Amino acid sequence: MTSIPFNKPYMTGSELTHITRAVELGNITGDGHFTAECSRLLESRYDIARVLLTPSCTAALEISAMLLNLRSGDEVILPSYTFVSTANAFVRLGARPVFVDIREDTLNIDETKIEAAITERTKMICAVHYAGVACEMDSIMRIADDHGISVLEDAAQGVHAEYRGRALGSIAPLGAYSFHATKNYTCGEGGALCINDPELIDRAEIIREKGTNRNQFLRGDVDKYTWVDVGSSYVPSEISSAFLFGQLEHLDAIAERRKEIYERYESLLQPVADNGHFSLPCIPADCRSNYHMFYIVLKDQSVRDQLIDNLRQNGISAVFHYIPLHSSLMGESFGYQHGDLPITESVSTRLVRLPFYFELSTDDQQYCCEKISEFFKR
Ligand SMILES: *Cc1c(COP(=O)(O)O)cnc(C)c1O
Repeated sequence: MTSIPFNKPYMTGSELTHITRAVELGNITGDGHFTAECSRLLESRYDIARVLLTPSCTAALEISAMLLNLRSGDEVILPSYTFVSTANAFVRLGARPVFVDIREDTLNIDETKIEAAITERTKMICAVHYAGVACEMDSIMRIADDHGISVLEDAAQGVHAEYRGRALGSIAPLGAYSFHATKNYTCGEGGALCINDPELIDRAEIIREKGTNRNQFLRGDVDKYTWVDVGSSYVPSEISSAFLFGQLEHLDAIAERRKEIYERYESLLQPVADNGHFSLPCIPADCRSNYHMFYIVLKDQSVRDQLIDNLRQNGISAVFHYIPLHSSLMGESFGYQHGDLPITESVSTRLVRLPFYFELSTDDQQYCCEKISEFFKR
């Protein structure tokens, strides 16, 4: 019986070597050799002033919210079609999420609808790069500049992707990466805060290190360390960083493989898409994708649910996401209701993500596409 999972974290083979090395070095707390190596690699590859590894992307978003001093009454503009952490990081400080609908092509926040959502309480726009395809960052940065508000890139899915030649996470003052097991590069649970505004670096280090200036102390900038600000425990263990380094060393090989898988899906499914059964993902000319996922958008929810069911019976695990945040219990508590964001609501009932992982074999991928074609021939 065929069994094709939806995701399978890829191990490059050097993770255990690095973990052994971390243990031998004798320091398994954070900010040791491997944490520094990962930060340096990401800073230089993606041209980011400072990268701070965190235990998750959620943690990096939380640090960002603290850095911007978000508080009760503030508003943050974000898409509703995203993972819950994008909102919670701000909501937990009392900020109000202001949801903006998405573009039909990239499923990213519709930059033409942002300006109408800005009020005098707006502190920030959170640009979520869905599926590793960039938001229209030039417009978003311009709108933010015009209104004196900040921008944060939720680049959880965007590591190694680009917008007009710039890495996602390197464009706004702040960005957040995820190294969760479902992402392209992983250490199980992990993330990073990307800081592009050098003025935010010192305070970000302090917030990440429990509100102390321990990082300055370790560098010899101060002769003792002490409590200086709000903060929490946002430093990952060296064990995690050692694992992650084993993945980041293979950035290009992993990216190359994902590109192949994506392009094979595209060519195998194009004929079925051309028959009008579904649409394929769109990568605008000024974006370079990291091929985080492959999805198709069907005509309606009933076909979508039948397809998922049919694939499951054939041993293929295909999944959907997201329940729009504005349609959730929490979303309703902020006064949102059904009908507020029509494109978000429509896409969320029609999208299916197909199995996508480094070790997905060509045979298995062909099998998935055959089953999809057969489904539409019934
Ligand atoms: C995965 C994801 C997150 C959360 O990442 P964690 O590392 O699990 O905290 C946040 N935002 C988006 C858009 C994501 O896809």
